[in-house]
Amino acid sequence: MSAQDRTRRVDSLGRVVLPADLRHALGIREGDVLDVSVHDGNLVLSRHEPMCVFCGGRDDLRKHVGRSVCPACVSALNAEQ
Ligand SMILES: [Zn+2]
Repeated sequence: MSAQDRTRRVDSLGRVVLPADLRHALGIREGDVLDVSVHDGNLVLSRHEPMCVFCGGRDDLRKHVGRSVCPACVSALNAEQ
């Protein structure tokens, strides 16, 4: 597939269909969550990885009021109470 075959038009709601071959190659399935960011003026989609809402840590996350929080931040929160 050439780069031109992957040209997609943005619809009125800002949606774009990801090419099926790329979805299959990258293991992206319906319902997966992707992060959208901008790097050097380019739109970048990347697999969403949960992180602590306070420090950005990614290890041993726990849910607190529906948000991901790492153990260190849980301890800090408990120490403030
Ligand atoms: Zn944290």
